Amino acid sequence: MKCRKCDNKAVINMRQHKLALCSHHYLSWLPEKTEHFITKYKMFDRADRILVAVSGGKDSLVLWDVLQQLGYEADGLYIDLGIDGEYAYSEESKRYSDEFANSNNLKLIVAEVTKMEGASILKAASLTHRGKDKPCSICGLTKRHIMNRVGFEGNYDVLVTGHNLDDEAALLFGNALNWQVGYLARQGPVLDGNPNGFIKRAKPFCRFYERETAAYSLLRGIDYIYEECPSAVGAKSIYFKEILNQMEMDRPGTKLQFYLAFLRAKENGAFTSDPGLIETPLRKCDSCGQPTSSPDECAYCRMWGRVRERMEAN
Ligand code: SF4
Ligand SMILES: [Zn+2]
Ligand SMILES: [Zn+2]
Repeated sequence: MKCRKCDNKAVINMRQHKLALCSHHYLSWLPEKTEHFITKYKMFDRADRILVAVSGGKDSLVLWDVLQQLGYEADGLYIDLGIDGEYAYSEESKRYSDEFANSNNLKLIVAEVTKMEGASILKAASLTHRGKDKPCSICGLTKRHIMNRVGFEGNYDVLVTGHNLDDEAALLFGNALNWQVGYLARQGPVLDGNPNGFIKRAKPFCRFYERETAAYSLLRGIDYIYEECPSAVGAKSIYFKEILNQMEMDRPGTKLQFYLAFLRAKENGAFTSDPGLIETPLRKCDSCGQPTSSPDECAYCRMWGRVRERMEAN
């Protein structure tokens, strides 16, 4: 198969776009499309200070690479969760993030959960009811909190993550399956910030299939951690991705259509009349100063406070 734009052999065929491209044209297509999405969804501009959440995986490293190429100034944030297991997941993913930052002369901020809170995510999960079955709930809460805190305190204008279309379609599938209107209302390419302490968030890759970012990393020679976090085994999001992959095989473009139709419905006000969406007033957490709707400490401080109590008791 030939490239649509020249006579060279195509290296990728995107059936959902009916577009096949050679390596050279693919490497310019993905950044051009990214720029288009950044503008279309009013994510940020070149005057903004951008913080990229870097996990050492392909999507976040590709995103950081593409932003550099497009002339955006972006620092990275790596959160060391202290997850070990067979292949020292956190250590390895940090190594890939460090190597990328060093070889591209970029600033990488590292936040170490164990140093900050006195225990790794796995240790915390083993000590609390919330993480009894899986550490993901504690991990998600911790990551969201640290990303917001570092972003806000560092005076960044926006926090960007490498979520791709496969991630977003799986999230949407899960939210729709349980009809979680509040979550649906907050899902999208951009989540606006709040002057009371929430940083704006954006997902510039939300319309790219995972295979598209994977192809880009391969063609650009970006090294990343292949292994998933050991705790991801059996995650619902993986199950939803498998179902959506099956649908995509039968009908190419299904995921994109699902996501875009959702965005259109949202634009037309589909999720704005829910009474649960009435904004809860925010105040500062007594311990960390981050915004919270609770009368004393935020969920993050309460959770880590319990972990510390149990560590002392043991
Ligand atoms: S799979 Fe691993 S990194 Fe992801 S939320 Fe769960 S514990 Fe955290
Ligand atoms: Zn070409
Ligand atoms: Zn707090």
